[in-house]
Amino acid sequence: MNELEEKKKQIIGIYSEMRLSMELHELGWQVHRAYFNEDIKFIIIKYWCPKCKKYNNQWIRHKKHNGKTIKCVTNLCKCCKKTELQVISRYLQVKTSEGIATNKENVRNFSFHPKIRYNMGKEVFYVWIAVFDGKYDKICHYYILNTKDVEKFDNINLPTYQITDNQKTELPIREDGTVLKKGSAATGYDYSVFNTKFYYNFRALEIETKNALT
Ligand SMILES: [Zn+2]
Repeated sequence: MNELEEKKKQIIGIYSEMRLSMELHELGWQVHRAYFNEDIKFIIIKYWCPKCKKYNNQWIRHKKHNGKTIKCVTNLCKCCKKTELQVISRYLQVKTSEGIATNKENVRNFSFHPKIRYNMGKEVFYVWIAVFDGKYDKICHYYILNTKDVEKFDNINLPTYQITDNQKTELPIREDGTVLKKGSAATGYDYSVFNTKFYYNFRALEIETKNALT
């Protein structure tokens, strides 16, 4: 890759991360970005009230002090005013690609290298972003999956799997975001999960509590 291509890749990365952070912010997440280019790019946070069973902000108490009204930040839920909020955090590894042209005009080939190749528990997620040229602006397609979901479409038990450049997940993606790779019945790996489960799945980041989103 020459210098110009390298720079373009960096710019696309920054652009898509900005778009992603806007999406997350709209959904009520505070977004924190890694200072250096680490495996985990974003740490995102929300406050959860276990009593109200929903996300709430901190209650700010107004008190009189020496004749003045002062603001007092608490760690309590602003709705019920008596329950300590829990911090819900998610760790995101973000990968962006513009893909490589194929012989079909509206299909590009993407390859993602997951840097974390094992189940890291319920709080660690990949966000894979496929970027296409739209008519007026870039189009970002987001595929959001937990690290444990990699085994749905890839064999993470291969001895070579942990070697970074050995294993890439290659996905032909149409400009509407549809992943065209099918997988095979013989191996049991099924790439259709990218369309049915991972595509735009920001809900996966929410906590697994009944009625969490109500
Ligand atoms: Zn509450």
